[in-house]
Amino acid sequence: MAEFLQAKDNRKIIHVDIDAFYAQVEMRDDPRLKKLPLAIGRDPDKHLGHGVVATANYVARKAGVHSAMGSIEAKRACPNLVFVAPDFDKYRAISAQIHAIFHEFTEMIEPVALDEAYLDVSSNKMSAPTLAAKLRKRIWEETHLTCSVGVSYNKVLAKLGSEHHKPNGVTVIPHNLAQDFVWELPIKDFRGVGAKTLEKFEKLGIKDGRDLYAMSQDDLRVYFGSFGDVLYWQARATHFGPVKDRSIRQSVGKENTFEFALHDRQVVEAAFKELASKVVANMEKRKLLGRTLTVKIRDDDFHTSTKGITQSVPFELDPAFMVRQAMLIFDEAYPDDMAIRLLGLTFSNIEEQKYQAVSLFEQ
Ligand SMILES: [Mg+2]
Repeated sequence: MAEFLQAKDNRKIIHVDIDAFYAQVEMRDDPRLKKLPLAIGRDPDKHLGHGVVATANYVARKAGVHSAMGSIEAKRACPNLVFVAPDFDKYRAISAQIHAIFHEFTEMIEPVALDEAYLDVSSNKMSAPTLAAKLRKRIWEETHLTCSVGVSYNKVLAKLGSEHHKPNGVTVIPHNLAQDFVWELPIKDFRGVGAKTLEKFEKLGIKDGRDLYAMSQDDLRVYFGSFGDVLYWQARATHFGPVKDRSIRQSVGKENTFEFALHDRQVVEAAFKELASKVVANMEKRKLLGRTLTVKIRDDDFHTSTKGITQSVPFELDPAFMVRQAMLIFDEAYPDDMAIRLLGLTFSNIEEQKYQAVSLFEQ
């Protein structure tokens, strides 16, 4: 029965998890941190002993530091531990960058955390492992961050896959290998198995997927309640949960940085025109509309002005209109002297374009 169900599941699911996300970002931005044991969190010495480790790099993990550990405890485990305070604005911005890359592959995206998501790429003709490789390459090109990826036909296997080879690993679990993969999995690695469940399993003498597979559904229900069913199907490499598309984009936009500052109003207008047509093309392609249009301008002194206009109805996707709005803001912010280094146009308050219902009835 389970084998029959498995065989029917022909989806292509990818689970992506950026390795030690916050820590990796901080090491990327300050390479001196790479060789040091690093914790993202408040330094207990500077904050009266308060603080929790949000993420630790792999050097610190080897010394026994892990996320959610109290900072004092972490420092006891690893006395030369370096603390860097988290910068969530930065992490959110990078997460948005990564999500924009996800959208190059599919619109069926279920974000789990800033650094983690499920992608259903079933509708793409390329093979899932090829797509996973491309995805990893794109993330590296755009962010210089590594990730671990699991590829399979359901979410649970994809997630187990991404956890299998960390960091910077890819694990592909096709149908013909799935049952063996699950059989060989240590019981602690099954989804949802925490300390309490593990204790119960120890008492029952259950050590791995093979032992779990041998337990009856009734027994699993007796010991674990409704979670018993989850375990029963996990042991059979079967899971029908869909990738829940919760990825309504926060924003669609484009920025241009200029190596040589722009000094001419007409050149600025032309640059906005180019940005506007790119943003509109992107919105059209994704069938989106936005109620807020934000214009960003940065000058030579790194002075940045960002101004948004919000309407009660979505903006029409008209580049000429967008350029007019942008130039109004530009003229207000930079009345005379100018040396422009960056221009940006972004739509937010995004909603989907409604299809015309008429066509349905006309057919
Ligand atoms: Mg991660």
